[in-house]
Amino acid sequence: MNIPIIDLHCHSNVSDGLLSPAELMSHAAENNVQAIALTDHDDIAGLSEASITAKSLNIIFINGVEISVTWKKRTLHIVGLNFDKDNKLLFQGLKKIRDGRYKRAQLMADGLGMAGIQGAMDGAKSYAKNSTIGRIHFAQFLVAQGYAKDISAVFKKFLTPGKPGYVDHEWISLEESIRLINGAGGDAIIAHPGRYDMGNKLYPKLFQEFKDLGGTGVEVMSGSQDPSQANYFSKLAANYNLFSSCGSDFHGKGISHRALGNVRSLPNDSIPIWTKWDQIKKLFH
Ligand code: AMP
Ligand code: MN
Ligand code: MN
Ligand code: MN
Repeated sequence: MNIPIIDLHCHSNVSDGLLSPAELMSHAAENNVQAIALTDHDDIAGLSEASITAKSLNIIFINGVEISVTWKKRTLHIVGLNFDKDNKLLFQGLKKIRDGRYKRAQLMADGLGMAGIQGAMDGAKSYAKNSTIGRIHFAQFLVAQGYAKDISAVFKKFLTPGKPGYVDHEWISLEESIRLINGAGGDAIIAHPGRYDMGNKLYPKLFQEFKDLGGTGVEVMSGSQDPSQANYFSKLAANYNLFSSCGSDFHGKGISHRALGNVRSLPNDSIPIWTKWDQIKKLFH
């Protein structure tokens, strides 16, 4: 049987991706993606355009967002899927996070200024345009100015903890992120858990707390984590009755590890998140 290609995590230029929501959906069609969720950072402004285009291309579209969260002094990303995009509290909650992002960006520019790099705020803004500003936009500016050879090198040198452009920002709590997503009728998913490097004690703590707060699933397969971790996270998710999700975390050519739709199948013991959803179930009939 041909396994349907389902990609539940990717970015448009509403946050830090390179393609517009419509271009991203056309690219998904080129890559034979059958169901997709657009999950921009802290912003859902791309969902209408993406869903209209996806529909015209016969791709099943799932509303999505990737929320920035602080848990035990660490930054985590919580993906929200299949919610009502017109929910007021979700809109207001995301707006608050974006305001915080803007303030963080100013502090990042101050830090870079003290390291002798002037004009970083305007530089980053010129890449962000009207979208939700983030570290990628600073990375693009710094690469263009010749401060590092590529995006990956620039993160290492300037934009990670301890480096001049890094700001230890307080995002919303795990509890609040799940409340916003569940309140809009969606499912909360721990994004790319492998990226948090927590160790065998803290991961179970996170999964337990997430489940107790009303979380639904975990990205067992992600373009931004090592595929060899899938079995570990699949088993851990099952221990806490959490569903499994998968996504490429595609941002655009040159700034992503993985192509759009390039998500390997979930381990056999996973219970895919879409078994909860009528829209996707039909792909399996
Ligand atoms: P922000 O939410 O603004 O802190 O930015 C986080 C985003 O930066 C991630 O979603 C990735 O798109 C990108 N990112 C983080 N670390 C790296 C890295 N080492 N190399 C390339 N992109 C990265
Ligand atoms: Mn990103
Ligand atoms: Mn992320
Ligand atoms: Mn992402």
